[in-house]
Amino acid sequence: MTNFDYDLFIIGGGSGGVRAGRIAASLGAKVAMAEERYMGGTCVNVGCIPKKLFSYAAYYAKDFVDARGYGWEFPQAPAFEWSTLIENKDTEINRLNSIYQNLMTNAGVHVIHERASLLDEHTIALETHTVTAKEILIATGGWPFVPEFPGSEHAITSNEVFSLDKLPKSALVVGGGYIAVELAGIFAALGVETSVSYRGGAVLRGFDVELAEAFSQEFDKYATQLLQTNVTKIVKSDDILTVSFDRGPDIEVETVLFATGRHPNTANLGLEALGIKLAKNGAIIVNEQFDTNIANIHAVGDVIDRVALTPVALAEGQLLAHRLFGKGGKDMSYDNIPTAVFCQPEIATVGLTESIAREKYQEIAVYRSRFTPLRHTLSGRGEKNFLKLIVDVATDRVIGAHMMGEYAAEIMQGIGIAIKSGATKADFDATIGIHPSVAEEFVTMRTPS
Ligand code: FAD
Ligand code: NDP
Repeated sequence: MTNFDYDLFIIGGGSGGVRAGRIAASLGAKVAMAEERYMGGTCVNVGCIPKKLFSYAAYYAKDFVDARGYGWEFPQAPAFEWSTLIENKDTEINRLNSIYQNLMTNAGVHVIHERASLLDEHTIALETHTVTAKEILIATGGWPFVPEFPGSEHAITSNEVFSLDKLPKSALVVGGGYIAVELAGIFAALGVETSVSYRGGAVLRGFDVELAEAFSQEFDKYATQLLQTNVTKIVKSDDILTVSFDRGPDIEVETVLFATGRHPNTANLGLEALGIKLAKNGAIIVNEQFDTNIANIHAVGDVIDRVALTPVALAEGQLLAHRLFGKGGKDMSYDNIPTAVFCQPEIATVGLTESIAREKYQEIAVYRSRFTPLRHTLSGRGEKNFLKLIVDVATDRVIGAHMMGEYAAEIMQGIGIAIKSGATKADFDATIGIHPSVAEEFVTMRTPS
């Protein structure tokens, strides 16, 4: 078919690259992949998986407290051992690394554990040799961004937090997005005295405002929110970091974690020399089909900076592989992508926020429910749930669903199917609830407010 070494060469063995490689190989393509760091990429090694495992550790902390209201007594206070969590997490991640490696090998993908960059539109430079490929996929993901200021080198990021030698007694988390609220929640639930510095007026910008507000009220129970603040300086003395802000007093903490976004991983890949178009923040610009301005060079996942979620990178990689080596397929749809933030308590959402729905639709109806779930009547913790549905009045279609509460992610996956299928409010109302559950509220909210 070609004079090239490979039909497809993939740079990056993360969510997008692995999925594209497996599918392309299963469709008969000769595929190789370069992975310089860890098989499975960010999600498996320093993202979704360790984060979710740590969230479970955090949930236990609350469960022990709640259990007392249900009659459980602990002759000794439950003790938490950070090193056990780290060790068991490492074992699980090593297992997943091997699974990803085997998945590639068994699919016939040649994995090269080296850094790769582009020499020309068909030639890839590895550390030890060069290879050629007809098609090239860049799936190099992203990397944490820390603004520069005096002492910024003392801050850690999500890359380091999952392998800290010890759990700090106190921590400052900087940022107000997914990673900041998730990691602050984990720290706080595990007993770390936690503060969060966010430059804006309310964390979780971009989420439904009421959902973010409901979360912020619960978050106050865990962490001190230092809103409208920016870190200006960190001074290290022994094991203590003194942090200064543009407003308010200094604070002293053992750990400062920056979760101020991630930048696409496009440095030193040879892209500029090849003339591949990049956005201001370094993201690779691709068309609907994930082609760059050089037709045989493609990009998917965090490096294109559309929606930085693992299932999105997987879907993009899969669609590209089918288009290049299969019968083609549908375009990627970015509408109604369900997403969850594994904070304390969890939040999850699918579809439009109220403010975007108001811009896009002439008339919407909003249904809200805020209540203490049955579980917390006896636990005494008083944690609130918040559920919200947004309906386009003209068609009766549900166009947004938002939730804060335990298992929000698990619940929203199902709601996502309904919304993606075009369910109307009448369909929701006609569905019999599961009682007693929190989720039943989604089918029993009758009056818009
Ligand atoms: P990545 O998974 O980042 O993979 C890129 C790979 O390319 C890496 O392995 C890297 O080593 C390799 N690479 C880079 N440059 C080169 C090179 N030149 N040569 C060879 N190899 C190279 N998403 C969710 O959906 N749910 C979550 O709960 C969630 N939690 C997260 C928590 C954290 C703390 C973080 C940081 C992210 C989280 N995400 C989550 C986002 C998710 O991890 C990413 O969207 C996803 O990993 C993107 O996949 P990718 O294939 O684009 O890139
Ligand atoms: P986010 O974009 O979610 O949040 C970044 C935060 O940092 C925002 O609050 C932003 O403020 C703030 N910020 C950005 N630049 C600066 C700066 N110079 N100084 C101070 N604050 C700054 O990024 P994350 O790093 O939290 O996560 C990256 C992505 O990874 C997420 O967007 C998400 O797609 C994915 N992810 C998904 C998870 C999940 O599915 N559960 C979990 C973790 C990550 P502002 O709001 O004002 O812009």
